[in-house]
Amino acid sequence: MKAKKQTHQFKTEVQQLMNIIINSLYSHKEIFLRELVSNASDALDKLRFKAQTDSHLMGTDTDLKIKITRKKNTLEISDNGIGMTFDEVVENIGTIAKSGTAGFLEAVGAAKNQEAVTPELIGQFGVGFYSAFIVAEKITLTTRAAGSDKGCRWESAGDGSYTIEEFDKETRGTTITLQLKKVDTEDQDFTDEWTIRGIIKRHSDFVGYPVVMDVEKTEPVLDADGTPEKDKTVKVIREETLNSMKAIWTKDKNEVTEEEHSEFYQHVSHDWNPPLAHLHLKLEGTTEYSALLYIPSKAPFDLFTHEQKHGIQLYSKRVFIMENCKELMPQYLAFVKGVVDAPDLNLNVSREILQQDALVRNIKKNLVKKILDLLADMEQEKYETFYKEFAYIFKSGISQDFDNKDKIAALLRYKTTKSDGKWVSLKDYVTRMQTDQKDVYYITGESLTTLINSPHLEALKEKDIEVLLMTDPIDEWVIRDLHEFEKKTFKSAEKGDLDLDKPDEKKKEEYDTLFEFLKSNLTEKVKDVKLSTHLKNSVACLSGGDYDMSAYMEKILKASGQEVPQSKRVLELNMNHPLLVKIKIIFEKNKDADILKDYTTFLYDMAVVSEGGKLDDPARFNKMIGNLTAGGIN
Ligand code: ADP
Repeated sequence: MKAKKQTHQFKTEVQQLMNIIINSLYSHKEIFLRELVSNASDALDKLRFKAQTDSHLMGTDTDLKIKITRKKNTLEISDNGIGMTFDEVVENIGTIAKSGTAGFLEAVGAAKNQEAVTPELIGQFGVGFYSAFIVAEKITLTTRAAGSDKGCRWESAGDGSYTIEEFDKETRGTTITLQLKKVDTEDQDFTDEWTIRGIIKRHSDFVGYPVVMDVEKTEPVLDADGTPEKDKTVKVIREETLNSMKAIWTKDKNEVTEEEHSEFYQHVSHDWNPPLAHLHLKLEGTTEYSALLYIPSKAPFDLFTHEQKHGIQLYSKRVFIMENCKELMPQYLAFVKGVVDAPDLNLNVSREILQQDALVRNIKKNLVKKILDLLADMEQEKYETFYKEFAYIFKSGISQDFDNKDKIAALLRYKTTKSDGKWVSLKDYVTRMQTDQKDVYYITGESLTTLINSPHLEALKEKDIEVLLMTDPIDEWVIRDLHEFEKKTFKSAEKGDLDLDKPDEKKKEEYDTLFEFLKSNLTEKVKDVKLSTHLKNSVACLSGGDYDMSAYMEKILKASGQEVPQSKRVLELNMNHPLLVKIKIIFEKNKDADILKDYTTFLYDMAVVSEGGKLDDPARFNKMIGNLTAGGIN
């Protein structure tokens, strides 16, 4: 028995998204067709891939194509691809499975007026199917999954709900019928032959399957012998292929225009922004392949949280083998999109085999090298765009790719205490080092402002030593795995002693008993109290031992829900600070003075505050500050 027609509400975010798309892409209406053709082409790819191991999915219907049908006020796009099951339709079309949705809607919310919601912003999210509501007042989708004998029918007027029911569909695949809005047929007529031809040529010419359409032709009438009869013509309907299907990567490098790159990139990536850079390669010899790869100009909203869907497509002699071929690109370059065509690959190659295939491994190695070269040769501004968008993924290459560690290290950029907000390479840093400076100094933390004002940097600043400011959580791992650059070791500015000046031993001794006292009163909080090698102006700071976890690392791990062993740090004090001098005088007068306890916790609290940490008892701290500024507490 067939399931009854069900009415579902769209998830709220789908409705919000649809309104945004319809309103803001109004002047880019025609792109809906590109999106639907791309989806159909993906569905054909998926079928072809699955049918390699399960041939009955293909059956006798092997003529894979995308068909556009024009009727009065309606436009239909159908494919005989993989299709969808009932549940898949609910999952893919009724909800938005993308984890970036919240981020996207937030960004849109932040853009105060609708005009600020540009196609670029939307493109970053890639909304695909819903773009059809720009031109359609009603969309009907019928589909039957390959290998299933049941189909289903989905329908919506884009007004908050959709209906879905089982439906007998004779053929495999998906048909999308758009009931066009009246204004659209008056403005840009999407049922007009030449309008459609133009759009397909512009946006989808290279699609690897025929995009066909019935067109009316005037042909001569033929007599019994097959010769045309004079002055007699008839109108006939012929199915015509609208796209050249010319694989763009087989063209000569110089023949491909920027527009073609943009369109092709948008097709393979489902990203509407033009790419930042491309790499077009044709290699001959033992490892023969061609590749057309792109670096996006914007990271998708869900780059971090979501499994990347559209990565590299693998072809062999222009025949599609598989989508999202992870075996060709390491994880730290997972944002690279495009096509690799390797003529010597077996068409029936499975993912398992690919991993061990020597040819594939060689291609991967080669591609990585070329991409790193491309990045190294990029002009500064372009490279910084790339870096802002992708550094947090790219940097993990230091840990993942031992062979290319040096090349990746050369591509790292940091802001520093002396760079005035600009990015500096490690090479620049090293060439600018002080003559007697041995190490590369760095400090990690959440924000540039806290870092640049950190008391740990006071002594370094006085010596005019530059310090790298690292605010990306991954930097901790980068430094650990990189360890050195051009034989210069990385040294944390907040861990261990700085070793910049010879300490005044005599003066140091004078503080020994006070420090013992402070330490015995702070045993639960710190592992030691000692004179600081970092401080010049502030009275106190906390630092770790050379091999301790940094405070920032501890915070990151805690935030990610990991158990972090409570590590005590060292309270460093500045013996040139008047507050410490004052405490010393009180201590020497009366070791049992109550006020000494208040001062002890106060020194510790000051150190916590200066690194942006959280106080146990802010009210107590506040009271001390109040009293001290009023000249009290002796
Ligand atoms: P995207 O294509 O970027 O994933 P869409 O909103 O365009 O986003 O499509 C959502 C999902 O619906 C696709 O990922 C795919 O699983 C499914 N889908 C869309 N069109 C088709 C089609 N013609 N055939 C089969 N599945 C489709």
